Amino acid sequence: MKSYQVCKHGAPLQLREEDTPQPVGTEVLLEVTAAGICHSDLHFWEGEYDIGGGKVMRLAERGLKPPITLGHENVGRVVAMGPDATGVRIGDERLIYSWIGCGDCAVCGRGDQQLCLKPQFIGGFRPGGFADHIVVPHPRYLFDYGDIAREHAAPLTCAGLTAYSALKKFGNLIKNEPLIIFGAGGVGLMALAILRAMQAHGAIVVEIDAKKRDAAMRAGAIATVDGNVPDVAAQIQALVSGRIWAVLDFVGSGATVKLGSDLLTKGGHMIVVGLFGGDVTIPTPYIPTRAMTIQGSYTGSLTEMEELISLLRDAPTPYMPVHLRPLDSVNQSLDDLKCGHVVGRVVLTPNELISADPGVKTR
Ligand SMILES: [Zn+2]
Ligand SMILES: [Zn+2]
Repeated sequence: MKSYQVCKHGAPLQLREEDTPQPVGTEVLLEVTAAGICHSDLHFWEGEYDIGGGKVMRLAERGLKPPITLGHENVGRVVAMGPDATGVRIGDERLIYSWIGCGDCAVCGRGDQQLCLKPQFIGGFRPGGFADHIVVPHPRYLFDYGDIAREHAAPLTCAGLTAYSALKKFGNLIKNEPLIIFGAGGVGLMALAILRAMQAHGAIVVEIDAKKRDAAMRAGAIATVDGNVPDVAAQIQALVSGRIWAVLDFVGSGATVKLGSDLLTKGGHMIVVGLFGGDVTIPTPYIPTRAMTIQGSYTGSLTEMEELISLLRDAPTPYMPVHLRPLDSVNQSLDDLKCGHVVGRVVLTPNELISADPGVKTR
């Protein structure tokens, strides 16, 4: 088995070759056929988050230490199963849910494994998909994704699920009111596709990169605003004829959270998903007097994974540019993502699955 591992935070991933693991009990061994590279992989690679004021939160303090095989957006083909694994067969190609918890606590018991305080997620605590094989502890984490192309299915387990779970938290608000979205990276573009599938009102997207603003328009944004202009708040307000009720922040910097909370009308709702980092000061009287809700959202549950797949299976084509690259391009691909050169998603795949045209593909 080959895998690319973080052996030292911030240093290039190293290729390791080990014996391919044999699944035991309920485990399933899959050959990785698609592995999306997510912005969170950069944080896991670097080993820290910026928490503002010149401080960082180190992942090692949360128990996440090298060696780490990254990759939490995976599709694989079943090649072996433990004696107690049921519900899949050899040759089945499945989307792998990554947000595994301890499995024993009350929160895992109610189905919210992504909120477990002893996380075991794939691509961090458990080896992920920047490898040719992957072991999943139970078939319950494997999802049939129908005839969605594998390279579009893979990002559903992080970008898609994260966007879907956040959008659901707005309830009916986004049916009739425009949503303001900050950031048109992979998750932002997925959110636009999911909004269409949910038949929501639609979104105005704030993004500093012109190429990503174009991608957002193609993905169905109502309008876009350059996040770097000095009068960004006024430009957003001018596009919304009435009050701003809903803001979804896929950037998560001090500046975007401040901007979002300033834009919200009385009774408005802001959800923060992005992990860019920083901090923010909000006058405390505004929280009650403006009846403000600021909520965080982190990945999603197994139930939401199932709901998302059924939503997109029958939906019109979701627009998310996907760039297929070979597994051994992983270090270059992480650098490209870090430098902001990726519009949509890079998905790593075995060489034999890359077609003659490895350029931008849509479903
Ligand atoms: Zn992710
Ligand atoms: Zn748990």
